[in-house]
Amino acid sequence: MKDSNDKEIGMDRGITRRDFLNGVAVTAGVAMLPPHLLAALQHDLDPEKSPGYYPPALTGLRGSHTGAFEVAHSIRDGDFWKKAGKPAETGETFDLIVVGGGLSGLSAAHFFRRSNPNARILILENHDDFGGHAKRNEFTVDGRKMLGFGGTFSIESPAPYSAVAKGVVEELGIDVASYPNYVSKNLYHSLGLVPNIFFDKETFGSDKLTINPWPIGGGESVGNATANLGETWKRFASEAPLSYAATQDLQRLLFDQNDYLPDLTSVEKKQKLAQISYAKFLIDNAHSSEEIVKFYQASPHPLFGVGIDAVSAQDAWGLGMPGFKGMKLDPAPGKGMNRDTIPNAEADRYFFHFPDGNASIARLLVRRLVPAAIPGDSITDVVTAKANYSKLDESSSPVRIRLNSTAVRVRHIGDSATAKEVEITYSRFGKLYSVRAPFAVLACWNMVIPYICSELPEKQKQALHSAAKVPLLYTNVALRNWQAFQKLGANAVYAPGSYHSSFNLDLPVSIGDYHCSASPEQPIVIHMMKTPCRPGLPARDQHRMGRIELFTTDFETIERKIRDQLARALGPGGFDPARDIAAITVNRWPHGYAYEYESQLQTLTQAPMPTPTGQLTRRGERFRNSRRVES
Ligand SMILES: Cc1cc2nc3c(=O)[nH]c(=O)nc-3n(C[C@H](O)[C@H](O)[C@H](O)COP(=O)(O)OP(=O)(O)OC[C@H]3O[C@@H](n4cnc5c(N)ncnc54)[C@H](O)[C@@H]3O)c2cc1C
Repeated sequence: MKDSNDKEIGMDRGITRRDFLNGVAVTAGVAMLPPHLLAALQHDLDPEKSPGYYPPALTGLRGSHTGAFEVAHSIRDGDFWKKAGKPAETGETFDLIVVGGGLSGLSAAHFFRRSNPNARILILENHDDFGGHAKRNEFTVDGRKMLGFGGTFSIESPAPYSAVAKGVVEELGIDVASYPNYVSKNLYHSLGLVPNIFFDKETFGSDKLTINPWPIGGGESVGNATANLGETWKRFASEAPLSYAATQDLQRLLFDQNDYLPDLTSVEKKQKLAQISYAKFLIDNAHSSEEIVKFYQASPHPLFGVGIDAVSAQDAWGLGMPGFKGMKLDPAPGKGMNRDTIPNAEADRYFFHFPDGNASIARLLVRRLVPAAIPGDSITDVVTAKANYSKLDESSSPVRIRLNSTAVRVRHIGDSATAKEVEITYSRFGKLYSVRAPFAVLACWNMVIPYICSELPEKQKQALHSAAKVPLLYTNVALRNWQAFQKLGANAVYAPGSYHSSFNLDLPVSIGDYHCSASPEQPIVIHMMKTPCRPGLPARDQHRMGRIELFTTDFETIERKIRDQLARALGPGGFDPARDIAAITVNRWPHGYAYEYESQLQTLTQAPMPTPTGQLTRRGERFRNSRRVES
């Protein structure tokens, strides 16, 4: 479907995007392959061995890309085995087979090799790249190479980080405490850029970008924001397209010290807040207008994947949202809590962001496992090192990473109680193969496991099924410059009514030969985030429906939304999407974040697993300690 202003927003421009990307739809249809991959397959070669095979540079619809999930969905739908042929015995045996080439699978191989240095290991991964959610996006704009994180963003809170995870981080050579050496912490502030909010006309009556008086989720830490709250507020109140009543409500929430549950003790208040959504708290307890609910609706999206209709007021307090200043809530967990309060000091220290997010960690692990695939030997040179995909699955290598390979059946050979080996069958470019090993680790998505491993006890299958993941888009847009951001004084934009509910300039991190964009005339990557929610439904149902939305939305539709949103928000600063957008990579994660068991709010509708009253969920804690946006 074309729109009348398609030309104006640059839908006809020859940027790097869908034109090439969907060519990697290998399993879905070999005919869709780009010529060099098609040629490789026709000559019975592995496409990964072809010189042009380099997934990080692909743009368009990435994340769970076409070709990665169809086989798994067909197994789920029960029709896979009806059509499947007989698996070919490869004759290959390994000491360990790992299903899933994300951080867990790569770490599993790493641990196994530590205790069995000569072990032969096979890692099967259904995507065209390794790393799982830790996904690297690369762009080249006007001769400048830029990186983006397509998923997992950083090493960060919740703290304390487990000793095992910390051990791997150290072993890989990452000195988390050295992070301040790499980040230009004050770059954006020094240019006068601060978090903004974009009001869209469909939700708020008119399009308007203005300063954000209390940035949460898409902005900087609450502490920084409050420093100039008085001044910020004045500008916001005069520019925001909110009614007089809503502006008054917001002012009261931000500045007054009201206790909205005056007759209760701190413990009782927290119990109550855990049982109601923040949206309900704003309306019923803080007597705010519906406009305020719209204003804050999307603020927990980056952490919970749902809005304030499905996040408890207790967690909103943990996220630093307004309305709790005068409520005298005790920050310590209540009596009888079985977890300690999270030590903020440690969480503060434990943060590290590579320009491609935790994809650098995946690459460091791969370098240990298959040294020939990632040149170099330090955590700084890994950032710009070009991976050689042809080396990932070589018969001479003790560890082999086999991409584009979906495990479809995992079973013991013989009786499970006495079996000495497991057999794993996988599908690769439409053909089935079987491999064997005495050990297997299923480091793949939990909801896949019951479908491929029928021997599991029923109870375990149910538990694995119940962990419905959170769908979301992590979109990277490469811009030719960021002068519009500078003119408008914005480094991060919260957009509660828009398609992507936040976007921000890249975190300015320079490591080794990689240099962040330090001046507004230079190209930059901006990061945009969307969670496809259905406010009003229980969180799990929102996730399920959102997942369907992501699977059924094509790239062109998302591209149009991106161009329209950026044009409207940044247009007053001179932004022209047709001219300024150089490339777009939409990382689609229908199975994204792990499901967050909420407080008692959720027990009213679904999951019987509350966090203890008075204790924040892990994401509440994570945010409280988060240093997500540093500048
Ligand atoms: C958008 C996003 C942002 C995140 N940000 C952070 C962050 O900042 N910090 C943080 O600590 N965590 C973050 N996370 C959580 C992140 O998922 C974990 O930290 C970690 O990367 C998960 O690693 P994993 O290997 O367990 O899972 P994954 O990374 O999901 O890897 C599992 C792999 O197994 C594959 N697989 C599944 N089924 C099969 C099959 N049948 N055959 C073969 N392969 C299969 C999957 O496709 C996937 O590639 C984020 C998650 C998402 C989605």
